[in-house]
Amino acid sequence: MARKKITPVEIKNNNRKQIYDYIYKHGKVSQNDIAAALRLSRPTIATNVAELEEDGLIFKDGQQDSDQIGRKAAAYSIAADYRIAIGVELTGHHIKVIPVDLYGRKLSRTVWNETFINTDEYYSKACSCIKEVIDSLDVSDERILGVGIAMQGLVSPDGNTIIYGKIMNCTGVTIDKFTEHLNYRCTFIHDPEGAALSELWASPELNSAVYLSMSEHLGGAMIVNRNVFRGRSGHSATFEHIQIDPNGKQCYCGKKGCFETVLSMKALLDGREADEFFDAVRSGSEPEKAKWQEYLKNLAIMIDGIHLVNDIDYILGGHLAPYFTEEDIKILYDNIRRICPFEEEDGYIKISKMPSHNINIGAALPYIKEFLDNPDNLRPERSEQQ
Ligand SMILES: [Zn+2]
Repeated sequence: MARKKITPVEIKNNNRKQIYDYIYKHGKVSQNDIAAALRLSRPTIATNVAELEEDGLIFKDGQQDSDQIGRKAAAYSIAADYRIAIGVELTGHHIKVIPVDLYGRKLSRTVWNETFINTDEYYSKACSCIKEVIDSLDVSDERILGVGIAMQGLVSPDGNTIIYGKIMNCTGVTIDKFTEHLNYRCTFIHDPEGAALSELWASPELNSAVYLSMSEHLGGAMIVNRNVFRGRSGHSATFEHIQIDPNGKQCYCGKKGCFETVLSMKALLDGREADEFFDAVRSGSEPEKAKWQEYLKNLAIMIDGIHLVNDIDYILGGHLAPYFTEEDIKILYDNIRRICPFEEEDGYIKISKMPSHNINIGAALPYIKEFLDNPDNLRPERSEQQ
């Protein structure tokens, strides 16, 4: 079998990417540092560093001591805003827009109080909000990688259609509602998937896990080998609609007694503020304590059920996650131990590392990841000269 020949351009691209990745990972590095870490010749490093700098991908970021006494060497860092992606979250009452840089860092955050209605007027308004944020960045259009739009709805695998949007009554909405106003790539993202992508970004050691998003509504995402598993038609990990009680409360999906009706914040708080509810729980008020214990019992049933299927870690995320104490997690393990047929070490339940703005940032991250993964993106001006 003939092996595919690597062309000189590919070798050059790979060298460039290795150098860029090293600077990205370590920051403020000199050519000496790069030479010590990578198996590349000095001239190769010098040429690539010069080109990366000329193209604006990296910049001179101060100086470093060199091995020659009395001489300083230039240090380089990547230009984190060389490309920017926009994360948008549309909820029942808000439009939130966060641009993020190549490190997945939030550049700003703007929120509009705007009630969601599935009309052209609403989408036009949402797009003008997005445009306003992009304009405020004052960068050329090619620096905007794309706009990720997170919504409370299931999304088709291609990211172009909301295939199930009962909470927001937006089933069937297509991405052209946005692309007709915005001259950028746009894609929908199911909100817990955005949260899971943020979690992956913040946790390089994370491999596979179930992400539970416990916010006003319950949601989930399955992380498998550092990817979010979407399933055949886009409804993977919709744990919220597993029925726990056929005679339970009505769920928005039409069924009764889904986990949504006992484990969403809406079900737990019943209109109260989370801070106030947990103040009551922690100060020992009986009705709230009993309600919280009941919640931890039901959560144990759900975690145990899913854990029997996949035997991986659990990340508790969403707006409820920061309220969990160590004691709550201990109770959760005890509850699970009572119903699980297997003896198991604790340690598989974790609290989210990205409690704030995770859905917005996660909606932008696929564009950042795509940019960083493709070596061709690192030679913008030179691609025609092949
Ligand atoms: Zn349901």
